[in-house]
Amino acid sequence: MDSVERLQSLQNATLEAIARGEQLAAIMLSLCLRVEAIAPDIVCSVVAADAERRLQPLAAPSLPASYSDALRGAPSGPRAGSCGTAIHRGCAVEVTDIATDPLWQGYEHLVLPLGLRACWSSPIKARDGRVVGSFAFYYRSRRGPDALERRIVATCVHLCAIAIEHDEVRARNHQLAYFDSLTGLPNRAQFNDAIARMTASAEPRFALLLIDIDHLKAVNDTMGHATGDRLIETVAARLAKIAGTAFRIGGDEFAVLLPDCGQTAQLRSAANGILAAMPAPFDYDGNTIIPSVTIGAALAGADGSDSVTLRQNADFALYHAKETRRGRYVRFKYGLRTTMMRRVQIVQAVGDALAGGRVLPHYQPVVRLDTGQVSGVEALARMRLDDGRIVAAGEFHEAMLDPKIAYRISGQMLAAVTADMANWRRAGLDLRHVGINFTTADFQKGDLVQRITRACERAQLPLDNLVVEITEQVIMGGRRDGVARTMEALRERGIQVALDDFGTGFASLTHLLDFPVDIIKIDRSFIGGIEAGARSSVIVEALVGIANRLGVKIVAEGIETSEQFARLRAMGCDLGQGYLFSRAVAAEDVPDLIRELCPRKPAPRSPTHAATAA
Ligand code: GH3
Ligand code: MG
Repeated sequence: MDSVERLQSLQNATLEAIARGEQLAAIMLSLCLRVEAIAPDIVCSVVAADAERRLQPLAAPSLPASYSDALRGAPSGPRAGSCGTAIHRGCAVEVTDIATDPLWQGYEHLVLPLGLRACWSSPIKARDGRVVGSFAFYYRSRRGPDALERRIVATCVHLCAIAIEHDEVRARNHQLAYFDSLTGLPNRAQFNDAIARMTASAEPRFALLLIDIDHLKAVNDTMGHATGDRLIETVAARLAKIAGTAFRIGGDEFAVLLPDCGQTAQLRSAANGILAAMPAPFDYDGNTIIPSVTIGAALAGADGSDSVTLRQNADFALYHAKETRRGRYVRFKYGLRTTMMRRVQIVQAVGDALAGGRVLPHYQPVVRLDTGQVSGVEALARMRLDDGRIVAAGEFHEAMLDPKIAYRISGQMLAAVTADMANWRRAGLDLRHVGINFTTADFQKGDLVQRITRACERAQLPLDNLVVEITEQVIMGGRRDGVARTMEALRERGIQVALDDFGTGFASLTHLLDFPVDIIKIDRSFIGGIEAGARSSVIVEALVGIANRLGVKIVAEGIETSEQFARLRAMGCDLGQGYLFSRAVAAEDVPDLIRELCPRKPAPRSPTHAATAA
């Protein structure tokens, strides 16, 4: 074979190796060896230039490893030997006497002892013109390239460019497949591999922590998606710093695998370390953000021996932590599994009901105790099951603990209730107000006022027909100023605000100063005891007196007997609701019910008829 044929064969072999997906270093090694076989008196080397244009040796089979080691990471520049200078200039550099050429000053000692006297280096350029490396011939005499060598180099720089670019694409694909592009953290695929590897050992000893950012959606919604991204990046960086290997396994969910962790105390201290690293505020786009995360954790072995169970149990712990200890850490316990499985089933059932439009309002009348007239109704959520049965909120209240479900339920209720109320008014029914219950989830989102006004506009219902009913928990559970501000905004628009179940929670009369309301609804537990127990009677009477002086209306909930009704009326209580008047009924039954109740004095309904739903 003459040299032209051998060059052709070198080209074919190299392209084939690239196509087969062989490693870049191996391809370059084989290329150098073939070149040295064609032109035996030269020494061939290939170096790549990294993103910072530093030299990264790829192959130099006839040079000692110490030479490549000395070059690794060396900067390119205007006087950086032949290769570093060729990369810097982007054109070939021909040095015919290394000993005297200023470009080699400081580097000559690396090659002169090897008997190398001259070096000709050519830049390797990618298709877009970037210099991605250099291809060099070293000579044992002081000389430049001959015609054959020029041909070889012209072919080789082209092949090297193809091989290096191919390798870049492969590295990029690997990065995309195994790393998250926003945070640079290893992704879910790597997490799956890592946890599978760790659980495969004979006696796995490690802990899994699942970490989810709190209220990212609210940050996205109020400050923009870019700020949300920044929050994710910040949490990721803090996690990586404090916890070693962290993975981004979902939108705002991270996992940390703690090797050699076999004890609760160790786990707790790691989790607390993570929590402590979070709250330092950071500024972005004019906002100050204080990151907060919730952690669920499980110990390999004790809380699950295979990766699926372990992951699921850590998830249960996280879910439970979000509901009960947001911003804190919860380790999995076995009891959680049953509770959570049930919860998940209920949440699923309610989710299906929501999707199928099977969550609907029933209405219980609110009656004026002095005249017996129906003044309004309260809407109560019901769910129609697959078999047609209708169940009360009590049966799915656990699902309401899931903020997303609670938010969706109030959304469907709002649409249905405003439409019903508008229909009744158009039909001439004398109903002044309809109450709808809202939860912490509605206040947290920050869009309650818009949701209500939009729903009323759509139904063409005046805003002052609506009563927003909230429990003490909403006041206690939300950010106080946020809840107060929303309540104020609602009242400014003429929407009335009622404090529901008053007396059952931690709220006290002092809350009425911070959170001015239009209506207080006294919980049924007080009304139930009003006949027998003097204490309830005294409390209710005092409440009625205070409310009257504050100009706040009182509704007594859960009136079941004529005696209770008579006593409350005598105390000067304005309004009441309960089985005595009616249980909650479907929207289509409301007009008849109201005609039946008004304007006569309330005719007590039979308790058996009443006692089916709350
Ligand atoms: P919680 O406090 O209960 O964790 O609720 P959350 O608002 O943080 O929402 P959740 O964890 O349930 O869901 C994560 C949300 O994060 C859903 C999505 O809107 C948002 N999200 C997911 N990926 C990204 C992302 O890459 N960038 C931004 N800005 N937001 C994301
Ligand atoms: Mg979250």
